[in-house]
Amino acid sequence: MDFRIGQGCDTHRYAENRRLILCGTEIPFDLGLAGHSDADAPVHALIDALLGALALGDIGHFFPDTDMKWKDADSMQLLRMVLESPAFQEWQIVNIDLTIIAQKPKLAPYNRTMRESLAHALGVSLDRVSVKAKTNEGMGFVGRLEGLEARAVVLLSRN
Ligand code: MG
Repeated sequence: MDFRIGQGCDTHRYAENRRLILCGTEIPFDLGLAGHSDADAPVHALIDALLGALALGDIGHFFPDTDMKWKDADSMQLLRMVLESPAFQEWQIVNIDLTIIAQKPKLAPYNRTMRESLAHALGVSLDRVSVKAKTNEGMGFVGRLEGLEARAVVLLSRN
């Protein structure tokens, strides 16, 4: 058995007149995240973790924000494109573990929906997908509601 581990992180700024999409789930809030795509930071962190596990570079290499093709892109679609690429064909996802650090809004009510959304896109059972949310105790850019941060770890295996 061959195993690979990958980690990724991403930050996006809060902005007005933007939707807040986390793990493919729209969360009701008066601020959204600014970005070239839909700015789904946890999914961007997850994509970086997947690419990192196979030493394939990072999300900006595959989906450059200078390319209008990815303007307002659905990040869940980008995730599926990465997983469908030839490099991933012989690999299985053992598990993923995501942490979202956001001062607001409270994400606990959406935890199951976010996990289900990721499990569906990844083609794995729900028990292999962990999403955790925490505040930053009011400190730093997260505490000042300037933006949020997401971190991801993934384990891949192949026979
Ligand atoms: Mg990003």
